[in-house]
Amino acid sequence: MKASERTIAPRQPASPGPRAAGRPISGAASPSAPVQGLPGVGPRRAVLLGRLGIVSLGDLVCTLPRSYEDRTRVESVADLVPGRSATIQVRVERSGVRRRPGRRTDSVLQVADGTGSLAVVFWGQGYRARSFPPGTELLLSGAVDRFGRVITMSSPNAERISPGVPPELGLLPIYPLTEGLSQSFMRALLKRWAPIVAPALPAIVPDSLAAALALSSLPAAIASVHRPASLEAAVAGRRRLALDELFLLLVAMAKRRQERTQRHQGATLRPGRRFDAARKALPFALTSGQETALAEILADLARPVPMHRLLEGDVGSGKTVVALLAAMAVLDSGCQVAFLAPTEILALQHARVAMKLLPGVVPILLTGSAGERERRSGLGALARGDGELAIGTHALFSAGVQFRRLGLVIVDEQHRFGVREREALTSKGIEPDVLVMTATPIPRSLCLTAFGDLDLSLIAERPPGRPESRTHLVAPDRRERVLSFLTERLADGEQALWITPRVEADPGGELAAAKVRAEELARHPLLGRHPIGLLHGRLPGSVKEAVMARFRSGQLLLLVATTVVEVGIDVSSVTVVVIEHPERFGLSQLHQLRGRAGRGSRPAHTILLAEANLDPEVMDRLRAFVGTQDGFQVSELDLAARGPGALLGPDQHGFGGFRRFDPIRDRDLIPKSQAAARELLAQDPELERSPALGAAVAEFEARLAASAVTGGAG
Ligand code: ADP
Ligand code: MG
Repeated sequence: MKASERTIAPRQPASPGPRAAGRPISGAASPSAPVQGLPGVGPRRAVLLGRLGIVSLGDLVCTLPRSYEDRTRVESVADLVPGRSATIQVRVERSGVRRRPGRRTDSVLQVADGTGSLAVVFWGQGYRARSFPPGTELLLSGAVDRFGRVITMSSPNAERISPGVPPELGLLPIYPLTEGLSQSFMRALLKRWAPIVAPALPAIVPDSLAAALALSSLPAAIASVHRPASLEAAVAGRRRLALDELFLLLVAMAKRRQERTQRHQGATLRPGRRFDAARKALPFALTSGQETALAEILADLARPVPMHRLLEGDVGSGKTVVALLAAMAVLDSGCQVAFLAPTEILALQHARVAMKLLPGVVPILLTGSAGERERRSGLGALARGDGELAIGTHALFSAGVQFRRLGLVIVDEQHRFGVREREALTSKGIEPDVLVMTATPIPRSLCLTAFGDLDLSLIAERPPGRPESRTHLVAPDRRERVLSFLTERLADGEQALWITPRVEADPGGELAAAKVRAEELARHPLLGRHPIGLLHGRLPGSVKEAVMARFRSGQLLLLVATTVVEVGIDVSSVTVVVIEHPERFGLSQLHQLRGRAGRGSRPAHTILLAEANLDPEVMDRLRAFVGTQDGFQVSELDLAARGPGALLGPDQHGFGGFRRFDPIRDRDLIPKSQAAARELLAQDPELERSPALGAAVAEFEARLAASAVTGGAG
């Protein structure tokens, strides 16, 4: 960041310095007042501030520094120690430009204080010499180097000081910048306006909540964010600002929950004879995690409040079974169920499992590639109500689909759907119960932010008797060994998947990759003796299903596929999954793929074919993945490396990004805040007693609605 600061410094216009600070303030402290028009903020700078998301005074004072510069003391030149950072106050003695052959020019200054002198080099910044002619007083902060016996500073932070004005010391904020805005401009702006605007900010968080979380008042927090007495104070201040943002979201979500409850048709759904029959007919005993999850869901269904529950469990933990039993309870109560799958293959698979596990239920399949006649008759049955269970992909959203009495919506593999798509479906019922299932373990904090106010059920264990599963990181030069291992496994009657990545930027390349690989493997002298199939997203639905049927029946032993199979395959004799270019996948996605093997009784192997020249960080990530089987740990790794988007996808930020609240770092703020938000609404449903909060929530909702209109869901 320091580099960008330095590069923009020369174009830095005069800051709103001491001159402006003396002026009386005439009612301009309203947080909603625009920054444009403040002393020193003309139209040009207003545009630049807008790029940082700063439009109003409120935005300005809630802008968080990225970090702080420790300028608590000024040292003498004589005391400088190479290898350490320091701040010195010096006078420029000489300044000049040095031209490197064929390259850019550097500025070289000779500077001194009373105790000694040293050279300062601004690498590649020839213009600096012009800005700092001899005689200039400078405050320099940066690392001290030594070249031979000469002590230097390389490209330090440099701030010109006016004679007679003592330099500012302490922990100085480093603000996010954009080209054309300088650090000293931002500092001066915030120094002046933060104390004036902070007391006028609307009170969103009840004092009692802030106190319960041991956080200060908002004005005090803003003061310590911009002028901290210590780093600890700065951190505490930032958390207080994060709390404001979090609490607003939680109140907005609690309000939605309240409204949903009011609209809910109030049907209480209870298991009956068919549910009991289905349970009895299960070919296995439920695990205790499945039992608990099922009980939680049934309890929700029986309440006159709409269920909004997330069912989390690793791949193969048996979520689908639980969801189907819940569906049966709803059918028993005379309501319909819509079961939403992310891919056609998975929809077909669910339909097959439903027929097996739910006696007497004939699911209506609605997918993009269904024939027109089939589709028409399915739609008719759903509208009349004699079709009980609809299973499908995005086609379930289309306008023609109508239910007579939709009681439950099940969404599988939640992260493939956007919040808005889900809302489109729930709008087909009168606030039906909603159960979403995901195999990507999502930390509670992210659930809240991405999915709204969901309750959580967790299936922590896997069904008993599952075989060992191992993951191997293999260099491509050992590919031949992988192929012979694969050949052996297939010869033993086992099956395997070979995954090639989807290359977003190059859709033609993706297809070619899988196709070419399938052909190449088929030519292999040993492996090629086994039947190999090809599956990718561009095949027509009927072809995909035919390939899958042949794979399921064992006519194909090896399936070369793009990630269409990610969430779609449950074939119990798959024991090996080979993944090319694992670095192109998120770890959660790799975990999903890994879960495709080992559904039967034989040990499972996941082989990551990783090029040797990968970024060391990427290699570390893959190694960490190899070292754990725990889905929660995998998702934490993903979060750490790639942020929430890695788990949720770009569409999933249904409530917009956060500016101050960090769903990971600040997650401990959630429980108490959520309780406080719900309680506040229970006591004051229209927020009449908290007008500032009410206004903020209304504005928040309006912003959401606007983004729903402009933003498309994938
Ligand atoms: P998920 O949806 O969580 O990935 P599924 O519900 O598809 O998991 O279950 C994976 C496999 O395990 C399926 O073949 C299913 O029939 C089987 N299964 C589910 N629950 C149990 C159980 N309690 N005992 C044994 N097998 C189970
Ligand atoms: Mg599943």
